[in-house]
Amino acid sequence: MKKQIAIIGGGPAAFLLAAFLDPEKFTITIYEKNKTTGRKFLVAGKGGFNLTHAEPIEQLIKRYTPSSFLEKALLDFTNADFRNWLDQIGIPTYIGSSNRIYPKEGIKPIEILRAVLKSLQEKGISIKYEHAFSDWDDNNNPIINDQTMQTDYTVFSLGGGSWKITGSDGSWLDTFSKKGVKTKAFQASNCGYQIDWKSDFIKKHEGTPLKNIAISCNNVTQKGEVIITKLGLEGNAIYGLSPQIREQLHSNSKATVFIDLKPSLTIGDLHSKIKLSKYRNTANILKKEIKLSTAQVDLLRTYLSKESYLNTASIIKNIKSFPLEIINTVSIDEAISTAGGIDLNAVSENFELTTMSNQFCIGEMLDWDAPTGGYLLQACASSGVYLANYLNKKN
Ligand SMILES: Cc1cc2nc3c(=O)[nH]c(=O)nc-3n(C[C@H](O)[C@H](O)[C@H](O)COP(=O)(O)OP(=O)(O)OC[C@H]3O[C@@H](n4cnc5c(N)ncnc54)[C@H](O)[C@@H]3O)c2cc1C
Repeated sequence: MKKQIAIIGGGPAAFLLAAFLDPEKFTITIYEKNKTTGRKFLVAGKGGFNLTHAEPIEQLIKRYTPSSFLEKALLDFTNADFRNWLDQIGIPTYIGSSNRIYPKEGIKPIEILRAVLKSLQEKGISIKYEHAFSDWDDNNNPIINDQTMQTDYTVFSLGGGSWKITGSDGSWLDTFSKKGVKTKAFQASNCGYQIDWKSDFIKKHEGTPLKNIAISCNNVTQKGEVIITKLGLEGNAIYGLSPQIREQLHSNSKATVFIDLKPSLTIGDLHSKIKLSKYRNTANILKKEIKLSTAQVDLLRTYLSKESYLNTASIIKNIKSFPLEIINTVSIDEAISTAGGIDLNAVSENFELTTMSNQFCIGEMLDWDAPTGGYLLQACASSGVYLANYLNKKN
C-alpha cells in the first residue's frame, strides 16, 4: 500500500520534494494556506530572477552559513541538476555575466510556476489550497483546517519570516517551540542596513548607486554594487555580508563595514595616478584620474577631516578601505530572506525532527543563511530533492 505524505507549505522546497518523490510509493498532497502557491517565488521573480548560480559546486557550497549543513543535499542535487530539471519541465535557463542563472529571456515567473505545477499535476500530486497547518494532535499527526490528517510522513516547508504578505509569515515558530522543537528567532538577511547618513550627503545622493565596489566585514569581502537609500545601503555588495554584520550588531549593537571604492586599482596604482596627475584639486584627481563617481568623492569629502581628505596616504587608505558604521538592519519584513527558524540541531542529517519521528523540515524555514544570487532557491530545491531521495530509498 502507498504511504501518505503531507507536504505543508507550497513553495519551491515543497515543489522539488514532490517532483522527486516516487508516485508509485507515495500518495503526495501539498497543503497550502493561501488560495495559490508560490507567492514568494513570484515576488522573487520581480527583480533579477536568479534561479541558481553557475559556480563550481565546491565553491557554491561554501556560500552557505554553515556550509556543512547543506553540503550533502547540494551534492545530491547540484546547480547543474537544477538547471537540467528546469529544462526538462520546459524552462530553459542561461548563465548571466555574473555567473547567476536566469530563466531564458522572455520567460515570466508565472510561466515557471505554471510549468512546475503542471509537472506536479502530471505526476498525480494533489494540492489543497486554503489549508492551514495549526498544530499536531497527541499522536503527532498534523492538524490542518482544524482536522487531524493521518499521514505516514509530514514534511514542513513553511518558508522564512520575511515578506509576510506572501503567506510565509513565520507564525509557525511558536507552534514548533511549544512542541519542544528547538527554534531561533528570525533575523533579517539579504536586507538593507541602516546608516545614520549626514544630512547634506543623503539629500544629494539618495537613490545613487555605488557601482563596482567591494565591501568587507569580518574579513569576508563581497563585490558588486549598492544603492544609497534614505535609511542606509541596499544591494548585492552588502546583502552577502549579512551573517558577519549580524554578528557584529549582536555583540556591539553596531557594525563596521569597509568599502573598497576602487577594487580594480591597487594602492600602488593609486599612488602613481595621484603622483603623476596634472590636476591640483583633490576632487578632480579623484574623478578624472581615479574615475570615482561624484557620490564616491562626496562620501570621502563629507566623512573625512580636511587633513585626511587632502593627505595622499590617507585618501588612498580610505579609497581602499572606507569605514562605514551600520546601526541596524531594516525591518525583517522587508528582507529578502531570514536566518533563524528551526535550529539546525533540531533535525537529523535527513532533515527529520529529532524529537518527532517522520516529521521533516526543508527549505528556508531551517536556520541556514546564504547570499542572494540564486543560492536561496538552490538550497530550497536541494533540501527537497535530498529528502525525496531519502524517502524513496527508505520505502
Ligand atoms: C524580494 C525577494 C526576492 C528574492 N529573490 C530571490 C532570487 O532572485 N533568487 C533566490 O534564490 N531566492 C530569492 N528569494 C528567496 C526565495 O524566494 C525564498 O528563499 C524561497 O521562496 C523559500 O522557499 P521555501 O519553499 O522554503 O518557502 P516559501 O517560498 O516561503 O513558501 C512557504 C509556503 O508555506 C506557506 N505556509 C506558511 N505557513 C503555513 C501554514 N501554517 N499552513 C500552510 N501553509 C503555510 C506559505 O503561504 C508559502 O506559500 C527572494 C525573496 C524575496 C522576498
